[in-house]
Order: sequence, then structure tokens, then C-alpha cells
Amino acid sequence: MQIAERLRNTTPSATVQMARIAREMRAAGRKITDMAEGESDFRTPPHIVEAAHAAALRGETRYTDVAGTLPLREMVAEKFRRDNGIAANAAQVVVGTGAKQLIFNAMMATLDPGDEVVVPTPSWVSYPDIVRLCGGVSVLLPCTEAEGFKPSPAALAGLIGPRTRWLLLNSPGNPTGAVLSAFELAALAEILRAHPQVAVLCDDIYESIRFTGEPFATMAQVAPDLADRVLTVSGLSKSHAMTGWRIGFATGPDDLISAMVKLQGQQTTNAASICQAAALAALTGPQDFLADWLAAYRRRRDLAAEALDRAKGLRLVVPDGAFYLFPACDDYLGRRSPDGRGIETDAQLVAWLLEETGVALVPGSAFGAPGHLRLCFARSDATILRGATLVAEALERLS
Ligand code: PLP
Repeated sequence: MQIAERLRNTTPSATVQMARIAREMRAAGRKITDMAEGESDFRTPPHIVEAAHAAALRGETRYTDVAGTLPLREMVAEKFRRDNGIAANAAQVVVGTGAKQLIFNAMMATLDPGDEVVVPTPSWVSYPDIVRLCGGVSVLLPCTEAEGFKPSPAALAGLIGPRTRWLLLNSPGNPTGAVLSAFELAALAEILRAHPQVAVLCDDIYESIRFTGEPFATMAQVAPDLADRVLTVSGLSKSHAMTGWRIGFATGPDDLISAMVKLQGQQTTNAASICQAAALAALTGPQDFLADWLAAYRRRRDLAAEALDRAKGLRLVVPDGAFYLFPACDDYLGRRSPDGRGIETDAQLVAWLLEETGVALVPGSAFGAPGHLRLCFARSDATILRGATLVAEALERLS
């Protein structure tokens, strides 16, 4: 079959690919420590699972409104108002099959061929591919370790041109865990005020996983005067350990939300009805477990960082949010493995580490930041200790 040009140039997501290789090796009998896939090992809380079961038994198994059931959209709007200070109502909310679908649909609904999207890097693997699939061009905005992996307003100003349509922001960020403060967002907003053609997508999917104690900030709240060009995307995948349920939600200007709903209506229609019932229970039910989970993530972050510290050549910025470590591994590139194999790139290093130790990681190059490794620490203490120690010891065997 001839595959369309747009797909021929698209690489499968590196994280998904890595997880697949790890699963295959495990099926073949190898002990694998998977620190590649970006999801929590916590179980979806039982009251959420039970809500889905009850909804299915009640017969909530039919199509819903494309944008999501009214009770769920009302609850999502309340969440945006209460937690984020965004003036949202149910008509300005769309529920989709994961945050990923909403990001994809926002790009599909707005980009014409050649339109540009500014993507601060290191960035989530999927942004550049989503932009390309939707006919756009990613303009990368490199964020350095020295800047805490945060986009500089001056660098942003230098990249905006007549074709720029979007700035993608992700805070807390995958893979770096960088968290943008209200002050930093305000500085970016100041640049955007001079460029009315540029919209902002805030991917806040890791909102609840922050370690600094600072209040969460997002662009629509910090710069309400820009609200008619800010799309705020969030969801339950990371916060409530619900990656498999595929529920995300977004709020933004009426015309954009309508366009996204129109597109979704010709695509997946509504997110799964019973998953929407589960999402409603997740948003209305008890939230006290989130504080326990956050404390566990903080402890695990420190455990992983401490174990990795044995690899003297790794440089780590301890993350303020999300559940990844993203150390620089460039010191180990250009070295040789004990069996004489040359390791020149982070991808080769990750492949060697998987073979040598059975630990699955993701190379920084997948995130537009070659010379780094990404390790997900949303795992049990035992997995973290085993994985990070095996990696650190293996790295020290490179000569
Ligand atoms: N945005 C970021 C930054 C992510 O890391 C991920 C998942 O890894 C997503 C969005 C996708 O979220 P969902 O599972 O809700 O589609």
C-alpha cells in the first residue's frame, strides 16, 4: 500500500517504541526494568473504576454529545475556574480522547500548510510530529540547562514571524520537569501582546505534580487579556493515573472550541461514555490521595537522583514537577563499552543500556535534546533503586 507523504515523514513516538521493545524483551524472558513509558504505577482509585462500572450497568453506553456529557463539561469548567482562575463555562469546554487528541485537533483546526508553531525544546516527543501531520512547521526554541529549560522571552521574540500561529507551552514540562512561574509566563505574555496572530497552547497535563509549593500558574490566568487566544489543555492521565482511560479536556475561545468539536465529530465523536463517567467521578470524588501520591513522587524523585548520582559523568537538574529525570549524558558519549562497542549517540547509549542492564530509558534526542536520558520515576521504590543503580553502574563501565 502506498502510504501518504505526511506519514512517511513521521516517526513513531520514541517512548511508545521503547516501551514496545521492552515488552518484547520481557515476553522473550528477559528481566526488564521499564523506566521509559511516561505513566504512573499507581492504580486508578477504586471509586473511579466503580463509577465506570455503575455507568455501564445504568446503560450509559451510548453516544454522548461530541464535546462530552454536560455534567462532565460543567465539572471541567468548574475545575478550570476553581483551580486555574480561568473564566470557563461548559460551552467553552471540549472533552477528548486524551490530551493528545485535543492538542492534535487544535493544530488540525487552525494550521494551514506552512504555518509555524514555536516549540520550546526539550519538548514532549509528539509536538513536532503533530504539527507536521497537521501541515505546520515546528520552529524550535532551544531552552538551555542554564535557563532551567525554560523559554526565554527574548529568544521567543526572535522566532516569531508572520507565519507564526502558536506557541506551545508545557508546564510542568515533559521531559525536563521545568515549571513556569506566573512571573515567567507574564514575561512571555508581554512578547505575545505585540503579536496578535500568535495563540498559546498551555499543555497543563502535569499540573498536579509539582514539588516546589508555589501556586500553579497558567497563561490564561496570568494574562486574561490574551484569553481569546489561549487554549488550556489538561486531563486525568497523569494526575489520577488514568492513562488508559483516554480522557483529556480543554477550554479556550468559543470559535476554536467549536472548530475542535466540529473536527472531533468527524473523527472519534465523543470520548468513551463510560470513561467520561469515570472522569466525572475523578473530578467530583475525594482528592486526598493526590497529596499522598505527590509525597511519593517527591521521595521517588530524590531516590532516583541519589542512585543516579553514582554515575559521575551525569549532570542533573533536579526537576520541580512531572515525574521524569532528564540528566545530560554527553560525558559518556564517544566512549566504548567493555566489549569494545563505540557509543556515539544518546540513542546508542540507551540501546546499550537496555541490552546490558535490561533498563529501558528514552534518549534525549527524541525530545529535541540530544545528549540526555529520560527516566520516569513514577515507579515503585524497588524498581527505581534497581533501575537507576544498574544504569549508573553500567555508565561507569564505559571507558
Ligand atoms: N502532554 C504531555 C506533555 C505528555 O507528556 C503526555 C503524555 O505523555 C500527553 C500530553 C498526553 O496525555 P494523554 O494521555 O491525556 O493523551
